[in-house]
Formats: sequence, C-alpha cells, structure tokens
Amino acid sequence: MKVLYKLYPGCFITRGHNRSVLVDSQRDTYYYIPNSMTDLFLNDSLEIEDHELKSNLILKEYLDFVINNEVCYKLDSYIGSTFTRLMNDYQTNAIITNAVIEIDNLNQTNETLYSTIETLTRKCNMRYADFILYNIISIEILSQLLSELDKFDLHSYNIAFDLPTLSNNNITKYVNELKSHHKIFRSELFNSPNNEIIQSDLLGWGNIFTLKEKYTPKCCGQIHTSYFNTNIKHYQESLKYNTCLNQKLSIDLLGNIKNCPSMEQIFGNIFNENIVTIINNSSLKQIWTITKDQIDTCSICEHRNICSDCRAYIEQPENLFSKPLKCGYDPQTNTWQDWKSIPSKFNAIKEYSFI
Ligand code: SF4
Ligand code: SF4
Repeated sequence: MKVLYKLYPGCFITRGHNRSVLVDSQRDTYYYIPNSMTDLFLNDSLEIEDHELKSNLILKEYLDFVINNEVCYKLDSYIGSTFTRLMNDYQTNAIITNAVIEIDNLNQTNETLYSTIETLTRKCNMRYADFILYNIISIEILSQLLSELDKFDLHSYNIAFDLPTLSNNNITKYVNELKSHHKIFRSELFNSPNNEIIQSDLLGWGNIFTLKEKYTPKCCGQIHTSYFNTNIKHYQESLKYNTCLNQKLSIDLLGNIKNCPSMEQIFGNIFNENIVTIINNSSLKQIWTITKDQIDTCSICEHRNICSDCRAYIEQPENLFSKPLKCGYDPQTNTWQDWKSIPSKFNAIKEYSFI
C-alpha cells in the first residue's frame, strides 16, 4: 500500500550548504536535519510503499524522527493528495508595519511627530514601534512620555533609553513604571549599573533588559540564534522581503525619514511633507525586497528563513548584497565565531568605526 508522509501546515524546511533547518512554527522550535532527508520531502511530502520501510533503515529512522516530533502526519496516499499546503504568500493590510522613532523629551516640536505617528497608525495600519527616548531626566518625565505613547493605536511597542546616573535602588522605580505600561513588549535600559534581564511572567512580553553601555544606533544589527524567529509570518515574509527593513521606516530627532536610524540616506522630512507622501513618492521601499536568497553567504545558509538581517552594517560596505557584518556564522563549516575576530571583516569594522 502507498503511504503519504506530509509535513503539517506550519512546518517548513530550509536547505543549507551542509544541512537543513526544519521549523515547527506552532511549537516555536526548529531542528537540524541532514540534506539527504530534506531531499526526500520534495513539495513537503514523501510517498512510499509500506514495505520500503522494512528494507531501508535510514528512511525508517528519518520517518520515525518526523512522526515522533509531530512535524509530519501519515495517511493513505489517495486521501493525502487532496490535502493542500498552507499558502506561502505574505499578506498584510499594513503599508508600514513598524517604525523606529527617536523622541527627545526636551524638543518643543514633538506635536508634529505625534501627529505623524497618528497618521502612521490610522492611514498605514502600523501596529508596532520602537521608541528611542532621549533626555529622560527623571521618572516623572518617563511616566508622562509613556502615557502619551500608550494613547497611540499600537498593538505593542519597545522602549530604549539611557538611564540618568542612578544607584541600583532607584532603578526599581523605573522598572516598576515600565511594568505598569502594558503595551510595552520590551524595554532596554542603557547606562545601567548591571547587565541583567528582568524576565516577565508573560512569556517574554514585558521583559526588561538593563545594559551597562550607553545607547547608540550602532548597538543594532547583531545576528544571533536568540533573535531567530520561527513564526510562520516571518517565514512567509522572508521568502519575498527583507526580514529587518520590509515596511519599516525610521524618524530621527530632526524629523528625517530613513530606512533605519543607522542608515544615512534621507527620503524626506516630516516638518516639510506629509509622511504618506514621503512613503509613496520616494525610493524608501527599494531596499524592502532584498531577500536572504540574494545576500552573499546567507543564500546558502540553513537559517536564512528564520534569521533577521542587517543592511546598515555589512561585510563590504560598497556591496549592498554582502553578508551582515555582525554575523559570525559560517554555513560551510556550521560554526559560530565572534564576528569581531574574523579577519575578512576587519576593513568594515574599521570603516564603521567599531574599534
Ligand atoms: S538594518 Fe541593521 S541597524 Fe538598521 S534596523 Fe535593521 S538591524 Fe538595525
Ligand atoms: S549567514 Fe548569518 S546572517 Fe546569514 S542567514 Fe546565516 S546566520 Fe543569518
């Protein structure tokens, strides 16, 4: 009898140079599997005669693995052929999904900024934002600013700012204030006395990171397994778009619109033009479609559909399609190294003044 082994919807495989990654997006996990196993699952399914399992022990081992981990189901081949796969099309009703917005508490022109954020949420359906706050000189100022940010129609937002110089004791007041604003997904408190993660009991929602260093946009762009994303939407987006910059923009302290705070190109200014006009009439969107399949080294990496990206800090600053500078992974050897110690990156490290 012919049997069909089919990957569950929400499970997907990415083939790399030496091995593949099999993601179970519903369980939020992934497994490394040999490429020989990936090759069996063309179109995410494998059809075999029952008796083949008795004579092919490797095949049996592979199928035991997928069945035991519940990433695959087994059914009669005829019935299985009528089951369809989940669509791999990335769909969203948003024009901008997320923005990185710098706010200076001492700036008198924040009204224009606030009405721009309002437009982004109302007309562009933006539901996520990262706010970088400058000049948070007291807990009262922080509380006032967060109350303003809570009013926007955002699903969640992240916060980053330098703490004023404090004793350990006083940090608690800031932490408690952040905990009382439930739209905050992640907070990063720079200029802290310690490096620490204050875990929330809400599955990561509300985690607070305290960091000894001072905030600079140069902190961004790290590639690490802890940033891997096994969400199905991330996977679908990664097939056609850039996993950091798609549908993203940044607004700096002067009102300039860029792809991200670390990039230099300016596409317009909110004090001169409406944000929707800037989005529609500029080349802001050009970089959104650079996928990992087009990027050197990433194109053969098994992590490319769960990894983040960085186009601001790259191995060859003159080549927009070169590997993220802050990635120390080599898909040819399947090893991680400290990116700062890799000789081929030394020129770029110097050019971006990371030393
Ligand atoms: S492009 Fe790089 S620096 Fe810019 S937001 Fe993305 S990861 Fe950060
Ligand atoms: S090479 Fe690095 S940046 Fe590229 S996909 Fe792999 S882990 Fe991510």
